[in-house]
Amino acid sequence: MTHVQTFDGPVEPDALGATLVHEHVFVGSHELALNHPHPEWDEGEAVERAVRGLTTLYELGIRTVVDLTVLGLGRDVARVAAVARRVPVRLVASTGYYTADVLPGFFRTHGPGRLVECPDPLVAFFVDDIERGIADTGVRAGMLKVVTDRQGVTEDVARVMTAAAVAHQQTGVPVTTHSHPASRNGLEQQEFLRRRRVPLDRVVIGHSGDTEDLDYLRQLMDNGSFVGMDRFGMEHVLPDERRASTVLELLRLGYGDRMLLSQDAAFFSRVTPPSWRRRNAPHWNHENVPRRILPMLRAGGASESQLEQLMVANPRRLLEPSSRS
Ligand SMILES: [Zn+2]
Repeated sequence: MTHVQTFDGPVEPDALGATLVHEHVFVGSHELALNHPHPEWDEGEAVERAVRGLTTLYELGIRTVVDLTVLGLGRDVARVAAVARRVPVRLVASTGYYTADVLPGFFRTHGPGRLVECPDPLVAFFVDDIERGIADTGVRAGMLKVVTDRQGVTEDVARVMTAAAVAHQQTGVPVTTHSHPASRNGLEQQEFLRRRRVPLDRVVIGHSGDTEDLDYLRQLMDNGSFVGMDRFGMEHVLPDERRASTVLELLRLGYGDRMLLSQDAAFFSRVTPPSWRRRNAPHWNHENVPRRILPMLRAGGASESQLEQLMVANPRRLLEPSSRS
């Protein structure tokens, strides 16, 4: 398997073009939506906003967008597929579980040695999503996602990461993380995955751009992984100028082949709804990298070939599934 799975089916890695590797289309909670709908959520309007946004993104030169909305973030691939059909940008779906702490009750009773004795359902979920397709949509996942945050590797987080490692070995699909750079826990993620035989060059330590700790970032990349400079626009965490300076400094130090640029943006997220984003993070949208950040990097001395490496070559190398081990 050397093709990258997308909402439009398998694609040659060379055809991916400029790619944003850590984005979201819609983030929410189905149970909350069913019982306490958010006043700013209107499905028809949200879909139209996503269609307009992704069409504009294509006009700005972006060809592929990875939607890292996995279980725990309200993944609804059928809804995203309705958007994907109407836009020129290619979307990639993902699998994994977003929890920084505990899994829902179902996972407590299901698994080896648990009340309902069975193999860990997480492994089957991840592998099925990658090999068979997600929830009868026929869309296959092209990326695995795991999370550790300030709580570190809790028992359930370890379970998710172990299942992702198994799924990686079975499918060759790359692993991306949500990390907490303030506690430098990308190193812990690397160690955990390495011990479970995930080659670190198949791993992105996500949200690394939230820190300016160059020693830490270099260590992650020297260990072989990509780092996600993937929250441009989240200026309530760190201003874009400072995020860009870090990228420029690491380019000067020769790390151009290990960084990925993205925004972690969403067309609707219940976590931080549109009105909050407009007030508090006006640049946090899918167009920020092509409109503001690439020009900022260019002005700071990045060459066209370096930008091409960040936007095209690195995502291509990441997303191409490795052959089964
Ligand atoms: Zn994200």
